[in-house]
Amino acid sequence: MATATLSLGSNLGDRAENLRVALQKIGELPSTRIVKSSTFHETDPVGGPPQGKFLNAAARLETELEPHELLHSLQKIEREMGRPAEHERWGPRVIDLDLLTYDNLRLNTPELTLPHPRMKERAFVLIPLAEISPEFKNLTVPGTPVPGTKRNHADRPKSR
Ligand code: ADP
Ligand code: MG
Repeated sequence: MATATLSLGSNLGDRAENLRVALQKIGELPSTRIVKSSTFHETDPVGGPPQGKFLNAAARLETELEPHELLHSLQKIEREMGRPAEHERWGPRVIDLDLLTYDNLRLNTPELTLPHPRMKERAFVLIPLAEISPEFKNLTVPGTPVPGTKRNHADRPKSR
């Protein structure tokens, strides 16, 4: 049994309903259980064309699915929920499901990089993630002072 963390985002249609439907479908995957999911956070879009605000969440799973099986299952859910296979990078989307971590696995294949390469630069990933995984609570969220800690400017991305 592996522990995986996911980031969920939506900025088209009924965003909260989209996150709820995605979480339900993820919980129905074979040999997979949602251990904890975060509250929903409204965030400004980062990069891409002008577009509406996102609603973001994070979830922690226990699963018997292998990393690539889990990625393909998440991509199938994205398609089922109406995300076209061809889409603009960083463009608006009904649902975006990213795999953040899978146990302590480090992986770099054309299809799947773990941990997710941009997760530590993205407040919209880190803030919900901190709610569900205490081990991520001490990461510095770019642009957001963390209470009780000093801002670490060296950790800030130079550009997005
Ligand atoms: P975006 O970067 O806008 O979320 P996509 O959701 O279309 O774009 O993902 C682009 C590609 O990222 C996918 O085809 C997928 O193979 C790849 N990818 C690499 N690592 C990961 C990961 N950890 N989680 C999700 N997708 C990943
Ligand atoms: Mg994605």
